[in-house]
Amino acid sequence: MISALNETHDSRTRSWVAGANDSGSDFPIQNLPFGVFSQRQGGEARVGVAIGDQVVDIAACNERGLFYGEAAEAAHACRADSLNALLALRPRCWTALRRRLFEVLRQEAAPEERQRVRLLPMSDVEMLLPARVGDYTDFYASIHHATNVGSLLRPENPLLPNYKWLPVAYHGRASSLVPSGTPLRRPKGQIRENPNAPPVFGPSRRLDYEAEAGFFVGPGNRLGEPVPIGTAEEHIFGLCLVNDWSARDVQAWEYQPLGPFLAKSFATTLSPWVVTLEALAPFRMPLASRAEGDPQPLPHLFDPDDQRYGGIALTVEVWLSSSQMRQAGIDPMLLSCGSLADLYWTIAQMLAHHTSNGCNLRPGDLLATGTISGAANSARGCLMELTRRGAEPVTLPTGEPRQFLENGDEVILRGYCQRPGAARLGFGECRGIVLPSS
Ligand code: MN
Repeated sequence: MISALNETHDSRTRSWVAGANDSGSDFPIQNLPFGVFSQRQGGEARVGVAIGDQVVDIAACNERGLFYGEAAEAAHACRADSLNALLALRPRCWTALRRRLFEVLRQEAAPEERQRVRLLPMSDVEMLLPARVGDYTDFYASIHHATNVGSLLRPENPLLPNYKWLPVAYHGRASSLVPSGTPLRRPKGQIRENPNAPPVFGPSRRLDYEAEAGFFVGPGNRLGEPVPIGTAEEHIFGLCLVNDWSARDVQAWEYQPLGPFLAKSFATTLSPWVVTLEALAPFRMPLASRAEGDPQPLPHLFDPDDQRYGGIALTVEVWLSSSQMRQAGIDPMLLSCGSLADLYWTIAQMLAHHTSNGCNLRPGDLLATGTISGAANSARGCLMELTRRGAEPVTLPTGEPRQFLENGDEVILRGYCQRPGAARLGFGECRGIVLPSS
């Protein structure tokens, strides 16, 4: 199911909520992303929907009788400190809740309905992790990233033979997923810079970020029952931004033969708002075409609709601010800008592949795309690629060189979708600042 356009995508619709109609807002009425918040003054965490600079308290609206039928069923699941119960429902319930919210938040909504909408200013809430993630899997779906990184490690043979046949992934760590704004400590690890000397244990000196998108699993599948590619999107609720922090020096020493482990498990940052797949319908596009001579995907990874609409025109930017920059009052610097449309594999192919051996996915599981890089140098989604493993440092506005991240550096991911005839949707931010090792 690739959701068709409906009235909730009409770019002409405006909202009575302040800020939602501002041209720069990430959260117009056509977006309506879901997240989990708690009020700064206290109270239980629960599910909210962003609109303009406000958060809709779904459970409170439900108590005021705003929803009925499947929308009420979905709203009932929002009285929780995670999206998991909502994710476990049928996609029809998600759609019903979105339609009803659109109806009551638009300019034309009746005054008695407006009165039942409970809004909280975003400045009064703290955003938490969107879901209790049981399992987290990170893919490697950008062929540009795989080629750039591969050519640093194996210049004559950058792409391994499996790359064009299956979406490569590793199993990530769910316990160290953190919401945007959580500082991270520079990890320590075993590092072997000199091949003629033993490894040493100490703080990573090649700390990097990876700009990615994540997607949350909805109802999931039973063990032993793969999800066919044709229905894979029915199992995907929505997308957020992901920073897969990586210690390159630790990674280089540990990654063979079983892949990354401690180089990535120390922290992964998520943006708090999950933009639903339904909201993204106006931004679907053909999958980036395979190069002449590349194999066609095997039948279990091939679906005509997925080939036609499996791409998503989501732009992901990486911004950096050093502590010197902040002290001098200098704004963050744009390091790179990539697009999900450039991936080699679609989210449906990743999910179908993940379950193709019978592996079960559960509501709230997180799958991520891997670093989003493009063909252009300005679209390299990590420092390892951007600086060619440190050989070509980036110069910050203060004159500071950057090969890898320094203590005090803050990395900010921003994502948005825009296209003529559609309302611009933003993903908000995914931020993290690097603290010294403990
Ligand atoms: Mn990654």
